[in-house]
Amino acid sequence: MSAPDVVIIGSGPNGLAAAVALAQAGASVQVLEFRDQIGGGTRTAELTLPGFAHDVCSAVHPMGVLSPYLRTLPLADHGLRWIRPPASVAHPLDHQPAVLLHRSLTETAAQLGADGTAYRALLEPFLANPHGVIAGAMAPLGIPRHPLLMLRFALAGLRSATSLAGRFNDVRARALLAGCAAHSILPLDRPLTGGVGLMFLLTGHVEEWPVAAGGSQAIAGALASLLGSLGGRIEMGVMVRSLADLPAARLYLFDTSPAQLATIAGDVFPPSYVRRLQQFRYGPGIFKLDWALDAPIPWRDPRCLMASTVHLGGTLEEIAAAEAAVWRGEHPERPYVLLCQQSQFDPSRAPVGKQTGWAYCHVPAGSDVDLTEIVERQIERFAPGFKSTILARHATRTADLERYNPNCVGGAITGGVSDLAQQFARPVARFNPYTTPNARVLICSSSTPPGGGVHGMCGYYAAQAALRRLTRFVPAPLK
Ligand SMILES: Cc1cc2nc3c(=O)[nH]c(=O)nc-3n(C[C@H](O)[C@H](O)[C@H](O)COP(=O)(O)OP(=O)(O)OC[C@H]3O[C@@H](n4cnc5c(N)ncnc54)[C@H](O)[C@@H]3O)c2cc1C
Repeated sequence: MSAPDVVIIGSGPNGLAAAVALAQAGASVQVLEFRDQIGGGTRTAELTLPGFAHDVCSAVHPMGVLSPYLRTLPLADHGLRWIRPPASVAHPLDHQPAVLLHRSLTETAAQLGADGTAYRALLEPFLANPHGVIAGAMAPLGIPRHPLLMLRFALAGLRSATSLAGRFNDVRARALLAGCAAHSILPLDRPLTGGVGLMFLLTGHVEEWPVAAGGSQAIAGALASLLGSLGGRIEMGVMVRSLADLPAARLYLFDTSPAQLATIAGDVFPPSYVRRLQQFRYGPGIFKLDWALDAPIPWRDPRCLMASTVHLGGTLEEIAAAEAAVWRGEHPERPYVLLCQQSQFDPSRAPVGKQTGWAYCHVPAGSDVDLTEIVERQIERFAPGFKSTILARHATRTADLERYNPNCVGGAITGGVSDLAQQFARPVARFNPYTTPNARVLICSSSTPPGGGVHGMCGYYAAQAALRRLTRFVPAPLK
């Protein structure tokens, strides 16, 4: 078999998206994956009991269904079916009904009392062209296609969540924003956290946050099937530890952490670049629980069962305090817990009458503390009796996650800290962040812009950089 144009190390959603984009442009592609299952953060497995399908990593996919690149692909023809719940988010609160993020702006605003008008005023301008905003926010730095719209988004989005919440007076709107902003895994008084909150709210008004029928593995399966139809190859069980492990190719695309890129390909980079890769910051990790459940989660407000995602943590002030504590290296007693209830909408995930549950909270990097009791107590706070529905549980600590996928350094799940310093200049500040000082080596993982999530945009933009290389230069030996 002749050497491919491009070898991609890693079959996560970015590696597979890059492979598809390259193959669509006529390049020959080979993907190497060290596990015996493709998908990286989009895998599904029976973690608890037979017949219960759990998403090992990603569960809910607003960025997947709205990805400017993935939504152009015929993934439905390759087996991917999105299941949309009636609502994207439920945010339960003590002593009052939960707030639900509905696709309808009117329906959502109606739950926010006097803040309804301010909520509409915040979201409405972006709903005139939500796909333009999403594409702009998910692109590397450059001149946006809709400069005025993106300037408006940046003015709000560069702010911290706590500052952006200043336009609301009541606990409900503030909590809804905080729950979405905490996906940033940053203290909520940091710049950009307002933008993360705003972006997640916006996506919920465009499409309900969906789950993939059968499990997140279906996303990887569809990308791999499409890649196969375009002539691309995937080889599993290949751990790339050094350049010697790489087959011949014109270019190499790393769907790996910057740390691994430095270790594997450090010899072909200047020492200063290796140092900058090694200085990359990964941020906090997660502690995750998966449950096989005997019944739906008994939420005090049963409307919480309408949402694929439930944000647990109470008020903005509580969530902000919990996230700040994690950044101080502490384990908060009342953490912000992100919970998904996939089987509520996808019965294929569990035996008849049973359910699955998926949740994680943020923890200091490398934490080995078992937070089962603390996470379950936070769920019980809003769903008394939850514990009595548990048939079996599976816990994942930071070291388990990193062993499972070396990209999750210290248990980090989004490819590294997405603060102002590192969001646009990841993994290092370069005119084109997907390139490296070696013309034949590129990086395409979530440690490049636009960062974490199952959207494939890092892979797509890295593939564009790789295609320019393929057409413009004559390959020299790598080593
Ligand atoms: C617990 C958890 C929950 C998450 N929840 C969500 C969610 O609900 N929604 C969402 O959108 N995102 C979520 N994410 C984030 C999302 O999964 C990631 O941002 C996304 O998977 C990153 O894709 P990637 O292609 O960059 O890397 P990855 O998905 O990490 O894939 C990298 C691949 O490369 C392989 N690999 C690494 N090193 C080597 C090597 N040296 N040789 C060969 N193969 C190698 C790995 O095995 C892996 O398959 C979650 C992540 C985690 C961990």
